[in-house]
Amino acid sequence: MRIVLLGPPGSGKGTQSQRLVERVGIPQISTGDLLRAAVSKGTELGRRAKEAMDSGRLVDDSLVLGMIRERLGEPDTRKGFILDGFPRNLAQAHALDHLLEALKQPLDAVVQLEVDYGELVRRISGRRTCADCGRVFNLLTSPPSGANLRCPVTGEPHRLVQRPDDNEATVSERLRVYDEKTRPLIDFYRARGLLRVIDAEGDLDAVTRRLAQVLGVPALRAVAKPKRPARRKAKRAAAPRKRPAARKKPASRAKATRQRASARKGGARRPKVARKKSAKRSRTRRG
Ligand code: ADP
Repeated sequence: MRIVLLGPPGSGKGTQSQRLVERVGIPQISTGDLLRAAVSKGTELGRRAKEAMDSGRLVDDSLVLGMIRERLGEPDTRKGFILDGFPRNLAQAHALDHLLEALKQPLDAVVQLEVDYGELVRRISGRRTCADCGRVFNLLTSPPSGANLRCPVTGEPHRLVQRPDDNEATVSERLRVYDEKTRPLIDFYRARGLLRVIDAEGDLDAVTRRLAQVLGVPALRAVAKPKRPARRKAKRAAAPRKRPAARKKPASRAKATRQRASARKGGARRPKVARKKSAKRSRTRRG
């Protein structure tokens, strides 16, 4: 499956991509993440991208396209990919078309995540990323909790940092750039019959379900289900087979357990007789 997630900053492209990666097993390709990695490594590309990123403008198409061409050439993308934050203008969308045509890997869908402007600003101000594993959280809507309390890389609580471009001035510029340069892609992909639109507000899981639905992939529960019977089967195979008596009413099962316990303490003969008797009694009652 080859998809593009389209939406303004803070619409949840990164978060939902990560969730899709877990369910569908195809890589997420985020140009924002690739650029940030280049900046923190101090590469030539990172050095050239940094100024635009810090001010909320788009990085040069030539840099971004070179990066994407290289990434889509890697073998893990053969089974599909989720593009997050790319393309971001019409020139990038045309270039992607040509690239995927040459690779004979056309897009399957483009999903537009719709979120109200005020909600975007609220989300971005609460957004934090783990400096070690890169997972994205939100202090207001989805702080680390439960199984995600600790970082899978360090085993310690996540080390949450705020992205340098998540400050008020840069955010408003990024939203303006989205309206001017990226929003036209909605019509571009609608005309190609690829566009799906989902409401990306509200509960995180609900958004994932909507996303899974428009993509035709199994949602959270449906994916988790097949694993459980498999585990139970394995357990059953390892355990000794139970006698049909195990299917009796709970009362007689409790009784059988008591009898087995007393058999362990006081020898095997007494419970054997008791079992026979009770079986006879229940047969009589039923008949
Ligand atoms: P967000 O979607 O929240 O704005 P991203 O992580 O996608 O954040 O992008 C961060 C910054 O990286 C952008 O503001 C921009 O400067 C740069 N960037 C990311 N993707 C692209 C792209 N496809 N083209 C040009 N610049 C990009």
